[in-house]
Amino acid sequence: MAIPVQRESVHELKRWGIGLEKLIEVCVFCDQPTRFWNTKSNTPVCPDCGLDHTVADIGPARAAACAKKSRNARSAGVSV
Ligand SMILES: [Zn+2]
Repeated sequence: MAIPVQRESVHELKRWGIGLEKLIEVCVFCDQPTRFWNTKSNTPVCPDCGLDHTVADIGPARAAACAKKSRNARSAGVSV
């Protein structure tokens, strides 16, 4: 079953305390900038990947994305 996604509004982002510089997140699956989110898991998922994946795929994809981010942060000399 596809992942339900909805387009995130500026209003909703502000409610989450996300500033304007964070308006565009990247899809957890394909790393492309997207305004679409799976709101249940609070995860950015583009509509294309939403069709190709299931909700069960979100957890592993998030873990992989987090690992990648912390690797990038370490290589940039930033402690996380
Ligand atoms: Zn995607």
